[in-house]
Amino acid sequence: MTDNNRSGAKTVDRAAQMDDSVITLAHGAGAGTMRSLVDELAVSRFTAGEKAPSMAPGRVELAALDDGSAQPVGDGLQSVVTTTDSHVVSPPVFPGGDIGRLAVAGTVNDLAVMGATEPQSLTCSLVVEEGYPVAALESVIESMQATCEEAGTQVTTGDTKVMPSGDLDGPVINTTGVAVVSHEDIVTDAGVSPGDALLVSGTVGDHGIALLSEREGFGFGGTLESDVAPVNDLVRSALEAGEITAMKDPTRGGVATTLNELAEKGGVGLELDEQKIPVDETVAAAGEVLGISPFHVANEGKVVLAVEAADAEDVLAALQGHPKGTDAAIVGHATAEHTGRVVLDTGFGRRYLSEPEGQALPRIC
Ligand code: MG
Repeated sequence: MTDNNRSGAKTVDRAAQMDDSVITLAHGAGAGTMRSLVDELAVSRFTAGEKAPSMAPGRVELAALDDGSAQPVGDGLQSVVTTTDSHVVSPPVFPGGDIGRLAVAGTVNDLAVMGATEPQSLTCSLVVEEGYPVAALESVIESMQATCEEAGTQVTTGDTKVMPSGDLDGPVINTTGVAVVSHEDIVTDAGVSPGDALLVSGTVGDHGIALLSEREGFGFGGTLESDVAPVNDLVRSALEAGEITAMKDPTRGGVATTLNELAEKGGVGLELDEQKIPVDETVAAAGEVLGISPFHVANEGKVVLAVEAADAEDVLAALQGHPKGTDAAIVGHATAEHTGRVVLDTGFGRRYLSEPEGQALPRIC
């Protein structure tokens, strides 16, 4: 894209902020503004006015706005779990990964946090611009293949479209994932109860801070890397170790958005101990320089879990015993107080941890 196009896009953004009849970057930020849009545009239409998520066994509907959908099949004791995600990350190759690894990990992880840790297959729909180097595309596809192998899945169908030069800035990759699970294995993001322990599977903010540092041209000693990885195997270890009541992958909007969604959907309050939330030292320092909290930016290889209190230590040990969960920690618990809110104990006092509203970070995943 030329500089002219970039400044043109910025003009549209500013105008759009004044006008709620057009899409703004905030609609893509993963927090409340996006959820309202999806709710108004799609959920009300596709669910024929039924706003309450269906509670039927093995069924997770669109209205649940979970990480994916579950639909009973066959004998009625199993469900097909599906999820879909389009990836537009810029730059397409970044420290720690690339758009190909991201496109596979993002979808595998959305299935995993539904309890579907054995992805049957993925689809891959690729939109690329005329003039894009074939060698660059080849390395993206190789990366997708290697990540599929790591996750124990494969791409079984796909589509390719080419846009005229200048119509697209970098490749767009959509992946859809499919898995079959027993009803009792499905984990939603609405199941947190008061007393449940809250765990994170490792350091938070790595992907978002690494991406933004790269874009802003800050080196930070070259040690910042995205955490992008498929974590279905890690999630399987956790599921085998104890009773997990809710799970989410804290992608756009970071752990702050994920925790607020868990609180709201579970009808509970969450109390977090800030000192216990693992943050890499360099990520914390870079976040200070960039003026962005690691709690507010995307992770692409992490999971937030709510676990029955009695099983918390066992699940923690299972996570820490896995190579992708060595920094896992118990970071708080759910309570019947301050329903729908997340309270952060900073060590100096308590404050609400809010979603990053108004802080649109486009093309982060
Ligand atoms: Mg998700």
